Amino acid sequence: MDYIRHKVPPVREDRLAACGAYGGTCCELSEDAKKGCLYTAKRSFSQTQGCQLNLSLAMISTLRDAVMVIHSPIGCGGNLIQNAGIGKVFQQLRQKSAAGLRWINTNLSEFDVISGGEAKLRQAVLKAEREFQPEAILVFNSCVPALIGDDVDGILDQLQSQVNARIVPIHCEGFKTKIQATAYDSVYHGLIRNLVGLDADKKPQPERTAEEEAAYRERIAKTINLLNVGSMSRLDEEELVRLLRALGLHVRILPSYAHPDDFSHAHEAALNVSICATHDDYFAEHLERLYGIPYVLRTIPIGIANTNKWLRDIAAFFGIEEEAERLIAAETAELNEALAPFRAQFKGKTAFIAGGEVRILTTGELLHDLGMEILGLRGYHFDKYGALLLDEYLEDVPGSEDRVFNVGAGQVFEQANLLSKIKPDLFVGHIGVNGTAAKQGYPIFPLFGQSNVYFGYKGAYEVGSRVSRILRNHSFNRNLERHTRLPYRDSWYEQDPFTYIDNPGATAVRSN
Ligand code: SF4
Repeated sequence: MDYIRHKVPPVREDRLAACGAYGGTCCELSEDAKKGCLYTAKRSFSQTQGCQLNLSLAMISTLRDAVMVIHSPIGCGGNLIQNAGIGKVFQQLRQKSAAGLRWINTNLSEFDVISGGEAKLRQAVLKAEREFQPEAILVFNSCVPALIGDDVDGILDQLQSQVNARIVPIHCEGFKTKIQATAYDSVYHGLIRNLVGLDADKKPQPERTAEEEAAYRERIAKTINLLNVGSMSRLDEEELVRLLRALGLHVRILPSYAHPDDFSHAHEAALNVSICATHDDYFAEHLERLYGIPYVLRTIPIGIANTNKWLRDIAAFFGIEEEAERLIAAETAELNEALAPFRAQFKGKTAFIAGGEVRILTTGELLHDLGMEILGLRGYHFDKYGALLLDEYLEDVPGSEDRVFNVGAGQVFEQANLLSKIKPDLFVGHIGVNGTAAKQGYPIFPLFGQSNVYFGYKGAYEVGSRVSRILRNHSFNRNLERHTRLPYRDSWYEQDPFTYIDNPGATAVRSN
């Protein structure tokens, strides 16, 4: 993979042949992925879905000592308001210095659409430098400047000589892709081109004695870049750092909540460790090509089985397999005892899980391990990384072959129809679709939350504990169902939920 020479990264549809529409069974999806049939799958009707600019902001708006310039009409990025307070708190949990969110919108008008928005972009970048003197200015390009042909890169190249901050262009125009995860590539592309390793050569290197140099090299040989794009809470980070330190490893966490200077040293590491290939393959593969740093990208450490796999992959790289086995044995013996009451409570209960492909498959394995039956999965998109994990899921979760796998971001009408037929005891999903499932009366367990722990062994216990509490009393959602309704006609619920998906594997969904 080598896209860093280019100013703009490719979209996921082209780079990974990612699929955004599918309705069938887990087994059919696995087979269709192997046959290469998924790229052509499409919807003949579609509701709205997320835009990559918003996901880019969610990923990197937490960067410390930085200002964001959103080059767009005023509405783009308006969702940042919801993070304004909590962003600062989550920054403070990691580092004492926390300025919170600082952003400037270029407020493009209809007049600018005719005459161009370049002057406003120039003004905004200079204002960011003047008012805040940040280490980095992140410039997010939106649909409008891309459509009217603003020379964003040309202007930012000129401005770089006029400001001290490092300018990072992020090309995340929403209209370019239906796979919102393209945002991860757009942000990483900007960071690798403009921050990673960049100032290391220019800054005076500390004088080291031979002994100090040896100690420094030894430290790098045991340093891991642990990649968090915002879907790891502080508690998740602490759990993974605890496990990695128990193996004698040093951990640097990038890119969310990091400082721009942290990227200067990002290439001083022995291994890049991802918690999700959907997030990090672009960064990990480019750092391997540019700096020769290998990576671990296979799975997310959710649930006992996948935490074990994640730790074993890391341990194999450092040749510390025995230490890892000892750690796994110690952690799981105690944990299995603690999980016994949840396994008894969840026996016979069913769940449906919606979210990112990697996260839903591993969360499905965890809930299965806790005694639940997984009736269906719904991924935002599906690509080769999902296909690898799906095959492991089919092995780890017997009986999952005939269970539903739907691919779709947003498309609430499809989800509502599906849920009305399979009727799970628990809905697991992200904000955005949790509300509509709640209106159908289902108990909701959020797939992710910034204030909770999901990862590692601690996460397995916490998930069990919280699901247990939710299942004991969900009268609020039952009341909600009685007093609200989704805006779809009864005739829609009588149809197959995949009516508007054109793909080779689609089979009608049975009602439970
Ligand atoms: S799709 Fe385009 S116009 Fe809409 S929010 Fe995203 S960048 Fe802005």
